[in-house]
Amino acid sequence: MAAPALKHWRTTLERVEKFVSPLYFTDCNLRGRLYGDSRPVAALSCFLTPERLPYQQAIQQHFRPAQVGERFGPTWWTCWFQVELTIPEAWVGQEVHLRWESNGEGLVWRDGEPVQGLTKEGEKTSYVLTDKLGEGDPRSLTLYVEVACNGLLGAGKGSMIAAPDPEKMFELTQAELAVFHRGVYRLLLDLELLLGIAKGLGQDDQRSFQALHTANQMVNMCDPARPETFPAAEALASRFFGQRGGDSQHTIHAIGHCHIDTAWLWPFKETVRKCARSWVTAVQLMEQNPAFVFACSQAQQLEWVKSHYPGLYTRLQECACRGQFVPVGGTWVEMDGNLPSGEAMVRQFLQGQNFFLQEFGKLCSEFWLPDTFGYSAQLPQIMRGCGIRRFLTQKLSWNLVNTFPHHTFFWEGLDGSRVLAHFPPGDSYGMQGSVEEVLKTVRNNRDKGRTNHSAFLFGFGDGGGGPTQTMVDRLERLCNTDGLPRVQLSSPDRLFSALESDAGQLCTWVGELFLELHNGTYTTHAQVKKGNRECERILHDVELLSSLALAHSTHFPYPAKQLRRLWRLLLLNQFHDVVPGSCIQLVVEDAMSHYQDIRSQGNSLLSAATAALCAGEPGPEGLLLVNTLPWTRTEVLALPRSGGAHSLALVTVPSMGFAPAPTPTSEHPLLPQLPQQPVVVVQETDGSVTLDNGIIRVRLDPTGRLTSLVLLASGREAIAEGAVGNQFVLFDDVPLYWDAWDVMDYHLETRKPVLGQPGTLAVGTEGGLQGSAWFLLQLSPHSRLSQEVVLDIGCPYVRFHTEVHWQETHKFLKVEFPARVRSPQATYEIQFGHLQRPTHYNTSWDWARFEVWAHRWMDLSECGFGLALLNDSKYGASVRGNILSLSLLRAPKAPDATADMGRHEFTYALMPHKGECGTVYAGGPRSPSSRTARPPFSGRTPGSFQDAGVIQAAYNLNFPLLALPAPGPAPAGPWSAFSLSTPAVILETVKQAEATPLSRTLVLRLYEAHGSHVDCWLQTSLPVQEAVLCDLLEKRDPAGHLPLSNNRLKLTFSPFQVQSLLLVLQPPTD
Ligand SMILES: [Zn+2]
Repeated sequence: MAAPALKHWRTTLERVEKFVSPLYFTDCNLRGRLYGDSRPVAALSCFLTPERLPYQQAIQQHFRPAQVGERFGPTWWTCWFQVELTIPEAWVGQEVHLRWESNGEGLVWRDGEPVQGLTKEGEKTSYVLTDKLGEGDPRSLTLYVEVACNGLLGAGKGSMIAAPDPEKMFELTQAELAVFHRGVYRLLLDLELLLGIAKGLGQDDQRSFQALHTANQMVNMCDPARPETFPAAEALASRFFGQRGGDSQHTIHAIGHCHIDTAWLWPFKETVRKCARSWVTAVQLMEQNPAFVFACSQAQQLEWVKSHYPGLYTRLQECACRGQFVPVGGTWVEMDGNLPSGEAMVRQFLQGQNFFLQEFGKLCSEFWLPDTFGYSAQLPQIMRGCGIRRFLTQKLSWNLVNTFPHHTFFWEGLDGSRVLAHFPPGDSYGMQGSVEEVLKTVRNNRDKGRTNHSAFLFGFGDGGGGPTQTMVDRLERLCNTDGLPRVQLSSPDRLFSALESDAGQLCTWVGELFLELHNGTYTTHAQVKKGNRECERILHDVELLSSLALAHSTHFPYPAKQLRRLWRLLLLNQFHDVVPGSCIQLVVEDAMSHYQDIRSQGNSLLSAATAALCAGEPGPEGLLLVNTLPWTRTEVLALPRSGGAHSLALVTVPSMGFAPAPTPTSEHPLLPQLPQQPVVVVQETDGSVTLDNGIIRVRLDPTGRLTSLVLLASGREAIAEGAVGNQFVLFDDVPLYWDAWDVMDYHLETRKPVLGQPGTLAVGTEGGLQGSAWFLLQLSPHSRLSQEVVLDIGCPYVRFHTEVHWQETHKFLKVEFPARVRSPQATYEIQFGHLQRPTHYNTSWDWARFEVWAHRWMDLSECGFGLALLNDSKYGASVRGNILSLSLLRAPKAPDATADMGRHEFTYALMPHKGECGTVYAGGPRSPSSRTARPPFSGRTPGSFQDAGVIQAAYNLNFPLLALPAPGPAPAGPWSAFSLSTPAVILETVKQAEATPLSRTLVLRLYEAHGSHVDCWLQTSLPVQEAVLCDLLEKRDPAGHLPLSNNRLKLTFSPFQVQSLLLVLQPPTD
């Protein structure tokens, strides 16, 4: 060999690049020799269908002749290809592939079973027919390739997230047999890795030069046309990769993964096939690479594969037994981390973990949510309650403003629960095994010195795809090479065990993990959000009433199966591109039909439970009034009367109980215990209207804006001086890219108040039990709004029933309430509690939260007084300075061009309240409703919306009293199943225990809602035999027996603690 010449860095590097290039010099370079001889397939035919047919049905259809170049479509159709192959005898001893390329997503079927995905975008364009053709091997076979008319990421017209092009056509661009040169492949892999090291380490690093020189020498030695020159070149590479690193090397845990969005730029039904295409390929890799581990989340997807692809599912279970297929996450789907209620989050784990236990014999030990738009501060407690202490995501690397300071840390939730959190430092869940990614993982890690292990999730993701053999080969080659971190094919358990074993130096992050991006997802697709809130309520109510019916009668069949089905539909819709509204129109249509299913089934189940409760009880026939919340309520209710009419009545219904409805002839509807001042409505000559119920006085200007809101007992004005509330405002809403997802900070600079026409305000209901005024407002030339402002007798809040006809492009509608309140922080309801966020923009962390999420209420309080804004279906909110702002509607155009267009109905409410700031009470009884001794100082925020009942008011707004038709005689008198001694504790859920579907055991879930340490007595009128604490998966706490006396039991709570208990009922006497 010639003596080494002077080496110019760039020319040497590019020389090696050209030697492996798929674009240049393929006539003479190594890449050009990857495949040898080729032959067309013997015969090709196809069958096109708009449906997603099962295999057995598809192959019965009439296939017509086809050829390479075949065009098929349109979008969402399926083209089945029958492929007949005859391998030439001359190829004996060779590795033979079917090479297949199209822009649709393919799945190969062989002997009636799926065997591999073929997706160009996922770098899967060949199927290995044999790795060495033997003398006597069969050389003819027939395969089927099922090609979906969509790409890995749907079929966006023009850009990925644009609405799908319904007319898109697809094309088969390659279908042939070819000899594959494995020796060429191995050299290409080595040369690419050496190039990566040379570039990645750079000219300051001598190891970089060693890599470059090795690669250059390999090119010198290697003649692409003479395979006998390959072993010497390969030996050179092996010598380089065999030079080991030191003991202090960082360890990268490479875990195979495939993020499959359960619905996003494609419908749910396509995801079923995406799972099959992706996982069958992963199973093949697991079978061929014993060290390769594949982590897979989302029970729903596994359940789909179980029912649609039983053969594949059996193989997955076998891989799971070997520890290669690792179910992770513990949830039904990878849900949104902000919007679902606390109970819905619990159900994600309950449904998910039960599925994993039943199907794979164990619970998941990691919560796995790599791609969700922020993480509630209650998640650590929910995880811990569901047997999980480890959490993995990476999404906070998408923060637009602030860099999150950790990759490995303890995450402490609202109640103090802690989990170990890890963000793969490569900031991705779709790595491909390149040197660049490996180096980024070690360099980007922000906990250097505190931990020496990182996760590296590899495999195509979002639209599925998953890992490839090439990725596995790259990572195995990099297992331990000087200059690079050590790379292990590893598992989530090995990663977290390594992190746990050396966790002494880790930092702690307290509170929510707020994503500084995608803040539009709290508002986009208002109908989906409304369906979510409504269905959470329906399932709550059905479970409670069914539980009461179960306690009431031995004959009542608790609808466990139906409820499980409905819950799973709701949980499915909580997937992180569905409830956030970041999906295509087809998905929204499916989601709306899921909600409709829950509504109609839910109503039938409510009727069935009501019938069981009424049976055998004497009393007036007609309606049963039901209160599904754990406190007594006296409210104005519209009672259905014969002929479709309604009449208003003031009714009192006990806590989690019922009462017979007043009959139309009754002169004394159930009067409340306290005297109430009727609502007075006065319209002034200038057109303004005043509504007054003796608790609050509301004044609306002639255009419907709120000029005054007075809390009468204290005389406090809630609206800022010189300002008006109920002010609708429009903003230009043009994000940088992620249309349905993002609202940018600069939208605030385009604020335009919507001004109404004086004289539009009119009196609606004239007073007495209820008073109201209504008005119309033209929002723009294309959009209009009508609103009824309603005040009920005895009610501490005023409601705004709103209807909007919305036809806009990139506009954002909000409503604002400037409060006569000053505070540096506002309070927002979250799952099982609330938290504070700043009302100012002091730091970048503060102003990055210019648009935040909340559940049913938000509050701005100062010492002694505050103003709360409640809602029945909204999630986007902000408080800046003294202005409370509720986000109502957006108008993004991608990925759904029709998002939010049309009619909307929603309600928000405003509640001024006094507080007890500065009051330090020494404990002991204060009022009959809060008899429990509290600690002398509870640490609550000034203003005390807690004592004013804001939390209860928001529940009341969201869980209206029910007037259910009673098929038999309704019970004669009021009855309450459960009540609590303190308003600080909320009994959220009453349901039948899961594990014993036929048993008479109920599960109760309660949480501390004020943020206080508190003792609580739970009173029940149900025949309880035994009470015992359990976890969120309903597993008994062996030390959790609760003594019962006089049907009461005592519970002790810490701030925002969630507790569950099992109540074993006595057999009923009937
Ligand atoms: Zn995703």
